[in-house]
Amino acid sequence: MADDILTLDDLRKWSVPGTALAVLGHPIHHSVSPPMHNAALAEMAAESPAFSDWRYYRFEVPPDQLETALKLLHRKRFRGVNLTVPHKVIAFDLIKTIDPSARSVGAVNTLRWHPDGYEGFNTDGYGLVQGLREDLRTDLSGADVILLGAGGAGRGAAIESIAQACHSLSIGNRTRQRAEELRTLLWQIDPAAKVRVFDPGSPPSDLPEDALVINATSAGLKPTDPQPINLSALPGTPRVFDMIYNPAETALLGSARSRGFAFANGFSMLVYQGARSLEIWSDTRVPVKAMFRGARQGMASN
Ligand code: NAP
Repeated sequence: MADDILTLDDLRKWSVPGTALAVLGHPIHHSVSPPMHNAALAEMAAESPAFSDWRYYRFEVPPDQLETALKLLHRKRFRGVNLTVPHKVIAFDLIKTIDPSARSVGAVNTLRWHPDGYEGFNTDGYGLVQGLREDLRTDLSGADVILLGAGGAGRGAAIESIAQACHSLSIGNRTRQRAEELRTLLWQIDPAAKVRVFDPGSPPSDLPEDALVINATSAGLKPTDPQPINLSALPGTPRVFDMIYNPAETALLGSARSRGFAFANGFSMLVYQGARSLEIWSDTRVPVKAMFRGARQGMASN
């Protein structure tokens, strides 16, 4: 059952004993969260019987069913819920208690059961910081960040960059207005933040040298997608982080490789945001190595 794609009908009939966790998305078939979390839960159960009946399931839930699904999940006492595309922002308005990690981002990816309703968190920022450390040996702190994208992931990355005291933040988004709205939000958080907006289609020549480029757009998911920026237009030797992990090497990362730039995809970020979610639900340290192993197996069988 943990491998099945479940629906709202399965949830209505839910009578599976034990402690259930779930991810909701639309589409959800590509999600590697179930094998990633269940690998960790198996290891945690071997250490402590408290986790022996914990299981992680996936539900295909279109946006118009999200509110009903969240009410049912709460009634059926699902201890934890992850939200993925396209639910992170929609769910924000349905959750009463929002942790500071999610409030400024305006999006939740993790919900924790409470008798009065779910509490909302956002672990993507933590995942990004850990992914950058693990794969690029770098921090947002002090970096000149060139951020591509101003959607949910872009907002999270921008707010994390400011929270970690990056040196400067240059935001390029296909729809310029969204990047400008994001800059306004960032200046509300930190009026002194060094933030600029640029057109990623024709990057200005005075972008910072040796920047940390973060792709938080979905451009690269499909082979026909345009590259979110032309790396040859950037000065110095940028390091390039693409949040996309499937495909493992987007055209942007291929371009970084051919130029000899350091680069990494979003696989470690995925694992660390998941590890933080599991910590929130279980209130214990979680086996991150098992999560890497489970996620790799999930990717291989996708
Ligand atoms: P989203 O809210 O839908 O935002 C999509 C962003 O991509 C927007 O900035 C959009 O620009 C831009 N975009 C879409 N198609 C484009 C194109 N053809 N050319 C240029 N820009 C384009 O999605 P999201 O939740 O932010 O997710 C963005 C990406 O991050 C996805 O690929 C997602 O899988 C990835 N992600 C990875 C992790 C991880 O753990 N590794 C976590 C979160 C997200 P406009 O504003 O112009 O539409």
